[in-house]
Order: sequence, then C-alpha cells, then structure tokens
Amino acid sequence: MSGTLALLGGSPLLDTTTYPAWPAVVGDEVAAAERVLTSGAWGSNVGGEVKAFEREFAEFQQAPHGTATVNGTIALVAALKAAGVGLGDEVIVPSYTFIATAAAALMIGAVPVFADVRADDHLIDPEHVATLVTPRTRAVIAVHLAGAVADMDALAAIAQKHGLRLIEDAAQAAGASYRGRRVGAIGDIGTFSFQSSKNLTSGEGGIMLTADPALAEALYSFVNVGRVPGGGWYEHRTLGYNLRLTELQGAVLRAQLAAFPALQERRERAAVRLDAALAGIDGLRLARVDASTTEHGRHLHMLRVPGLGEQGLRDAAVAALKAEGVAGAFGGYVPLHRSEALLGEADAIADRLGQPRPARECPVTDTLCADTIWLDQRTLLADDDHLDGVAEAFAKVLSQEDALRDHVKKENG
Ligand SMILES: *Cc1c(COP(=O)(O)O)cnc(C)c1O
Repeated sequence: MSGTLALLGGSPLLDTTTYPAWPAVVGDEVAAAERVLTSGAWGSNVGGEVKAFEREFAEFQQAPHGTATVNGTIALVAALKAAGVGLGDEVIVPSYTFIATAAAALMIGAVPVFADVRADDHLIDPEHVATLVTPRTRAVIAVHLAGAVADMDALAAIAQKHGLRLIEDAAQAAGASYRGRRVGAIGDIGTFSFQSSKNLTSGEGGIMLTADPALAEALYSFVNVGRVPGGGWYEHRTLGYNLRLTELQGAVLRAQLAAFPALQERRERAAVRLDAALAGIDGLRLARVDASTTEHGRHLHMLRVPGLGEQGLRDAAVAALKAEGVAGAFGGYVPLHRSEALLGEADAIADRLGQPRPARECPVTDTLCADTIWLDQRTLLADDDHLDGVAEAFAKVLSQEDALRDHVKKENG
C-alpha cells in the first residue's frame, strides 16, 4: 500500500463520518431513566435500581456479592480498605495501566510498588511481582488490561505464599473470563468502572465484586457511611463515606447490561476480523492472547510497532493513522514508575514513616510506552469497511518510515 500519506497532504483512506459514537443508547436506557425520574426514588437508599443492578451484574460476572459505587477509582480504594490496606502498606501494581490503579493506593496513604509487564501482552509480570514482596506488602492489584486477563494462577500462588490480598482491577474487563470463569471474584475482590469510555457505562460509576461475605460487608459499609446491611440509619459501626451510585445510573446500567452480550459478540467478531487483516503487516505486532483468557473483554485493541518505537516515530505514526481516518488510534499510557505525581506522594509517605523507597525499574514498560499503538473502544463497534480500512491504513503508514522520519525532522525544525 503506497500513495502520499494523508498527514503529508495525500487523500485519507477512511471516511470518519461513520465512526461509531460512544457512549450510546444501546437498549432501554431512556425508558429506564424516565422510570426513575417519575418514581420519586432517586437515591439507592429508597429505590431498587442500584440494588437490582448489583445483583444482575454480580450474577453476570459469576460473583456472589456486588456493591456499586461512584467510579472505578473509588471501587479500588474501597477494595484496598476492605482488604485491610492502610498507612504505609505497600501495594504492588503494574507500571503499565491507567494511573488510577496506583493513585487509589495513595488515596489511603499506601505506597504503590511498580511491577513490570510482559512484552507480548502488556499484562503484569508475576515473576517481577515475586521479587517485589517485602514485609510491608499487603496486596497485589492485577489489572486485566484491554480486556485480557492477567495470570491469576501465578499471582494467586504468590499472594497465598506471602499472605497478601489479591485484587482484580477489571475496569476494562466486563464480560471477560479466565479458564472459563468470569473475572471479579477470582481474587479476593474485583473492581469495575462504568466511566463513559468503558464498554458498559452510566457516564460514571463502579462496582466491587467478591465471594467473601465478610469483605462484602466491609465494602458495603465503606461506601454507605459505615452502616451495616439491615442496620440503623445513624448506626455507623465503622468509618465510611457516602460513595453511592444514583438510581438514575443504576437504571441506565441495567439497560446497558441487558444489551451487553450482543455488543460483546460484535466486538469479538470485529477483533477477529481486524487481527486477521493486520496479521501480515510488516513491523506490526499483535498482542498475544493467552489461552487462559477464555472470553476477552475486548475493550482496547493493543498493537506494537517496535521498529518505529525505537526511532521515536510512534507518535508520528499515530498522527499519520489519524490523518488517514483511523479515528481510534492512540499512543496510550505513560510509564507510571516515572510519574512525578505518583512518586512525589509515594516518597513523601515512605520518608515520613521512615520506610525505604521501593525500587522502580520497569524496562519493559519503558519500551511499551514508546512503541504501543492502541485502537480505542469504539473501533471494535465499527463496520467491516472501517475495520478493513484500519488495516489498509496501518499497511500504508508503516511502509513509509522515511516519510515519517522526514516529517518529524521538519516538525522539530
Ligand atoms: C478506567 C479505569 C480505572 C478508573 O475508573 P474510573 O471510573 O475512571 O475512576 C481504573 N483502572 C483502569 C485499568 C481503568 O481503565
């Protein structure tokens, strides 16, 4: 595939006017919202929508208990609190993930410790995790990134050996399963996000799942002002906060969940078609999906361009793809083990408590942050023409390394 790059004045390969919008009404969301608005019960303390969603989503993920909350970040905070994590405790998190995974630990004064990820699938590397455990470690957060499931068997073995809690950050993995079992209650607690970019959304929102009744009660109390299920309104047995979802969100999420399986099937079909079209392209590496991921959450689509990454041309390639009409192309995360925002706070906590600052070497993450290209969530809802066009655009852009290099030189003066 040749022809002048659209970035350099050529004509774009793809028409972006048909690119799908997200979030979108995919089922009965409008009727659901109206049902709540006319009911007089707008809060989950008086209505039944959030409670029903908690039951329905937990059942969908094959988990005994579900507790909804305001967003995925707070779901992680609640999970860490319920797991007994506190001031100065170390929490092992992957260095390649959304910043919230690490920031959640800092919100309760715990110290995130960064584990590197695997080069072929961007998921937390259990071998590195095992080397990071100290007497201060209390929990590990496995992130099921892009919808692919982390190596739960290996992580559970480490957690068991050292008496650690294992938390699943499944913000990107609704509908995903590991060895035939849906994620969320495989570890001690699993958290999800319903923020507007996720596959299932109410604009904002989150939920914690668990199989452990004691953890379920602790999670409930933390997001319900320290109350216990069935207890009195002013009976605050533990320290908690009002971190509840509204009935409007609960009702919208129920409608989204009802439509979810059909959309997931569509995303799965799209991912298979896209991978087949991308497979032969020179210089492009598809993410490996381990056989243990028996259902993929199909949130982000992660690709690598190692040759372009080494030369610092990844961002130019993303710009070129966007110019061709690949609206979902994105450069992705920055290395969290180098984030000043996180490290400043983590070091302040460790220093104040007289604890050693954790080591922070994650060379694979450094490489991946330089050579990964994502296709965002909406790409897998696009029609076949768009998907085939995405592959054509990759072939066109990746075959014109010299043009990208000249472009970057010119841009840098
Ligand atoms: C989106 C996301 C979160 C945070 O969820 P919010 O609802 O935005 O707070 C946490 N972890 C991962 C991996 C995410 O993708």
